[in-house]
Amino acid sequence: MSNSFNQLPLPPEQLDNLKDLGYQEMTPIQQACLPEVLAGKDVIGQAKTGSGKTVAFGLRLIDCLNVRFFAPQALVLCPTRELAGQVAGSLRKLARYKQNIKILTLSGGMPIGPQFASLEKGGHIIVGTPGRILDLIYKGRLDLSKVNVTVLDEADRMLEMGFKEDVTEIFEQCQSDRQSLLFSATFNEEIERIAQTMMKNPTWIKGADEDTPSDITHHFYEVDQHENKPEAIWNAMQEFEPKQAMLFCNTKIYCQEICDFLNDKGVVARALHGDMEQKERDQTLTLFSNESVSVLVATDVAARGLDIADMPCVFNVDLPKQTEVFIHRVGRTGRNKNKGQSITFMTTRQKNLIPTYEDLIHQPIRIKRISAGSRKKIQMPEYQTVMMAAGKRDRLRPGDIVGALTQSAGVNASDIGNINILPVVTYVALKRDIADQAVGRLSRSRIKNKTVKMRLIN
Ligand code: ADP
Ligand code: MG
Repeated sequence: MSNSFNQLPLPPEQLDNLKDLGYQEMTPIQQACLPEVLAGKDVIGQAKTGSGKTVAFGLRLIDCLNVRFFAPQALVLCPTRELAGQVAGSLRKLARYKQNIKILTLSGGMPIGPQFASLEKGGHIIVGTPGRILDLIYKGRLDLSKVNVTVLDEADRMLEMGFKEDVTEIFEQCQSDRQSLLFSATFNEEIERIAQTMMKNPTWIKGADEDTPSDITHHFYEVDQHENKPEAIWNAMQEFEPKQAMLFCNTKIYCQEICDFLNDKGVVARALHGDMEQKERDQTLTLFSNESVSVLVATDVAARGLDIADMPCVFNVDLPKQTEVFIHRVGRTGRNKNKGQSITFMTTRQKNLIPTYEDLIHQPIRIKRISAGSRKKIQMPEYQTVMMAAGKRDRLRPGDIVGALTQSAGVNASDIGNINILPVVTYVALKRDIADQAVGRLSRSRIKNKTVKMRLIN
């Protein structure tokens, strides 16, 4: 097989690990980038959303580590805390075959104290957002002087004003002869020029996947004016009946407004934006990922990078202020060979932007009007989540929970969805029709010989 991972200079243990992860063969961007990346060259990689860019740099970070050397040796910078968390999670999976690799997530929105503590214990790979990383450098807690590989994920975003200054300052702390990797689905000329100044003879790998057809179908709808959008969303939901959807709005206030509108209609929707506490943001994403929430109404904090399996539908309730953000928003669906639908609303006044969007998606656009819905049933989420007041600190494992649910609460294993065990709480998705009864029974029984407080949260 020409696109097998076996042809790469990777240890056999990693090849086995990739098989265990279900990665049968390389995606086009991985095939194009990995030989260069693993050879230590500087690379700028551009490929579609959902095409597997994390693995294209992640394998290198794990491969070139000296585990016995307790200093940060690799650094990944991301634009949002959620994405940093997700990238760290992906790296941990790639690192499973190597013992004792410490991957630290250093992002804002979490208390800084525990980050001091984990830095003291030493981390090999740092993943985070620029603000918090600079903060830790200023406080004398983070020493990046041994970092010899840096990655900018969503690189074009990271090199925009606001982030660029921080990124430059952080990179000045790292080794000057380090390997530098940049990945994104979109780049523009200005960004390419900046990138060039901070890299050594980078290899440009672009459009490795350009001839693979997009798995996303685009629908554009005209609304007379902004005020008509809630009704249009409602009609589109009845027409498409998506199992789940992500709705993008341009402001936090409007996100909340649309979310309230949908909740009033009986849809299980939640908002996600930067005014929310980090805990709430994380919980919302967990509930959306485990399919306990049908609709996520988000600002562009959720536009970049997030990988939610099988998410079938994205709505651009508002057109984004920067057109390339459209690509990133829409790229939350149709990931890794799945099919996706993109639904975009344009007000009559915005119709002059049609040619811009035709250029962007390389297709002609036939704008339609959405007809009034036929009042079908509302799509309820498949699962409901129970939150338990116990987690990793209580040495809780998935097996303990599955055991308690099947043995004490009489739940079929097939009715149990995702289990997310965090340090002090655990989220368990249960099929909606059995959730109530199961939680009633489980809260009266014991898990690991203890009664655990729990409640349904949506
Ligand atoms: P991108 O950063 O390009 O948007 P991600 O790195 O988030 O995409 O990967 C998208 C999804 O594809 C993830 O769920 C990841 O686990 C999966 N994936 C990555 N590489 C492979 C592969 N070689 N085979 C199958 N799935 C893969
Ligand atoms: Mg990515």
